[in-house]
Amino acid sequence: MTKPLRLVIFGRQGAGKGTQCDQIIERYGVAHLSTGDMFRAARDAGTELGLQVGPIMAAGGLVDDEMTIAIVKERLESDEVKASGFVLDGFPRTADQAAALVEMLGDEGLHGAINLDVPLDEVTARMKARGRVDDTDDGIAQRLALYDEQTVPTINWFDEHGMLVNVDGLGTESEVSDRIAKAIESMIGDTGDAAG
Ligand code: ADP
Repeated sequence: MTKPLRLVIFGRQGAGKGTQCDQIIERYGVAHLSTGDMFRAARDAGTELGLQVGPIMAAGGLVDDEMTIAIVKERLESDEVKASGFVLDGFPRTADQAAALVEMLGDEGLHGAINLDVPLDEVTARMKARGRVDDTDDGIAQRLALYDEQTVPTINWFDEHGMLVNVDGLGTESEVSDRIAKAIESMIGDTGDAAG
């Protein structure tokens, strides 16, 4: 039996990760585990977690590792996600989150991580254009700075462990998704499993 795909996707805010995740989900039938979506859903539903994370998100900060790891762990341990595989989007974002992920997955591990690479000036322009509630100029600047500070070292960690594939995120949606498909095929080929 082939094992389901287990993937992490990195990319700066505005790099087109959401669109590309949709394509990956359709192609591989995996669950989309987006911590941003989970926190936004909690905020909109007004749950206890939502009341805690709402102000942090509005200020462009990061939710603390403990809460973030707990919400991901719950999903990763569900039978549904174990059966379907997953693409993790927005997690891990810090060194502690990366360490927790490796521990949670244990021997199962990951097929790898993709870094959707789009230059800083291009993502800034895209974010200003899309005008989401949390996309104020200050919010954008702060989230991009945090990304360089915390997430780039996390990406480098995956790279140093031979698990990272860089994908050029400039071009049309289908050009980029073709590149991502090739990157995934190379990961599956390397490890010899994952359902297609
Ligand atoms: P963006 O990529 O625009 O920051 P996301 O949808 O990834 O948007 O996340 C929205 C917000 O949710 C973040 O600004 C942050 O406050 C919180 N968040 C999401 N993922 C994480 C994470 N892994 N660790 C801490 N906070 C997170």
